Amino acid sequence: MDQYDVAIIGSGPGGYVAAIRCAQLGMKTAIIEKYSTLGGTCLNVGCIPSKAMLDSSHHYEDAIKHFDEHGIEIPGEVKVNLEKMIARKQGVVDQTTKGIEFLMDKNKITVYKGVGSFKDATHVNIKKNDGKTEEIEAKNIIIATGSKPSTLPFIKLDKERIITSTEALELKEVPKHMIVIGGGVIGLELGQVYKRLGADVTVVEFMDRIIPGMDGALSKELTKVLKKSKMKFALSHKVKSVERKGDQVIVKADNKKGEEVVFEGDYCLVAVGRKPYTDGLNVDAAGVKLDDRGKVIVDEHLKTNVDNIYAIGDVIKGAMLAHKAEEEGTLVAELLAGQKPHIDYNLIPGVVYTWPEVAAVGKTEEELKEAGVEYKSGQFPMRALGRARASMDIDGFVKILADKKTDEVLGVHMVGARVADLIAEAVTAMEFRASAEDISRMSHAHPTYAEAVKEAALAATDNRPLHV
Ligand SMILES: Cc1cc2nc3c(=O)[nH]c(=O)nc-3n(C[C@H](O)[C@H](O)[C@H](O)COP(=O)(O)OP(=O)(O)OC[C@H]3O[C@@H](n4cnc5c(N)ncnc54)[C@H](O)[C@@H]3O)c2cc1C
Repeated sequence: MDQYDVAIIGSGPGGYVAAIRCAQLGMKTAIIEKYSTLGGTCLNVGCIPSKAMLDSSHHYEDAIKHFDEHGIEIPGEVKVNLEKMIARKQGVVDQTTKGIEFLMDKNKITVYKGVGSFKDATHVNIKKNDGKTEEIEAKNIIIATGSKPSTLPFIKLDKERIITSTEALELKEVPKHMIVIGGGVIGLELGQVYKRLGADVTVVEFMDRIIPGMDGALSKELTKVLKKSKMKFALSHKVKSVERKGDQVIVKADNKKGEEVVFEGDYCLVAVGRKPYTDGLNVDAAGVKLDDRGKVIVDEHLKTNVDNIYAIGDVIKGAMLAHKAEEEGTLVAELLAGQKPHIDYNLIPGVVYTWPEVAAVGKTEEELKEAGVEYKSGQFPMRALGRARASMDIDGFVKILADKKTDEVLGVHMVGARVADLIAEAVTAMEFRASAEDISRMSHAHPTYAEAVKEAALAATDNRPLHV
């Protein structure tokens, strides 16, 4: 039987990063993955393919809506070839997942392709994809089995017309009317893809706003911009049934007044969140405890109730984000090597890759109010930037929240072009506990979108932005 210092079950961004860091630190490492490709949800059916589709559809939208204004004329009709678009997306996925195979090889990590299930706390049975079984022994085991799309109890996903994000990345036609249940990140990103490609899109959301966990100002701005693109929103609507009739899907919901509202479309994307995935893992054999929502229970060192078993990523509490899973993978590897790593969960940024993008880190204004923290706020509109006007990406703003007395930055919230990248500056500043004045006194290249960060910091420091 092969023996390892550490065995990792699941090869998503949590698992594969944990494997690389363990190997870098000199541990004999194995990773077990039930799918034929590595990279988990993120690389195969999540972050990477959705961004590939967002980029392709963005190019199309630019071609039909904005090229003319730039003085670019296209003779003839610009058309979408969805099959080719999806094939390109798959090419990006294939390249990326192969890259992980390469990294496993480079770091001398043994890869097992099959379903891993606990025999006991130090042994894992692997039901391999080739039909054979193998047992391995490991001193430490990391559960990194991720998550799966969740649904509502009364919805029967047929995966043809009533679909999850996974099928939405593989459609054979552009829907005529896509009904998206859930105004969170995944629903909005994929909704925007199909809106750009020509579908009518209606987002039905239970809460009174989209991206409910984020600062209210972001939600307002994004709603405004998406409405301009003719995306429709039914907020405060509680979906109560989803039915397929031939090629049609009928969604019934109750609005705030309790009246029934009926939506008819040809596709319904169910994007109501994701649930932790431990099917087939046989956690009971190892004595690992789950909470009542199926998440693996861990302590502050991401250790389960069993001494040598850890868990990371979507399968445990916290934000379901690839970069959060990655940080946790690194943390566990370094803990096993005797180091003292730390993650500040307050500083894990959240991003929505619609256009304009939305990005945030730290506390929202609502959270500061609720906690009774005295704060000041500085905001700067993207439209006041030369760079934004040059590219015609004028929607959005940067808002910085800072402690009223100390000026320490407590939260940064952005909507606009490339803010998914800009948020890194805010994370760096907050990791070093910068004040708004610190940011405002740093040189930001001109003309860039990043100037909005400096200007918002000037506004937060003592209300003296330069360009508004
Ligand atoms: C459409 C979509 C878009 C997204 N976009 C973003 C984004 O832009 N940015 C972002 O940060 N996050 C995004 N996410 C979320 C992100 O994909 C997840 O947070 C991330 O993949 C979690 O990583 P993980 O390692 O915990 O688990 P996963 O990536 O889910 O990987 C778990 C792996 O474990 C394997 N596995 C499970 N059980 C077993 C077993 N018993 N034996 C062997 N293998 C097993 C699974 O097959 C899977 O490969 C997106 C998700 C979706 C669905």
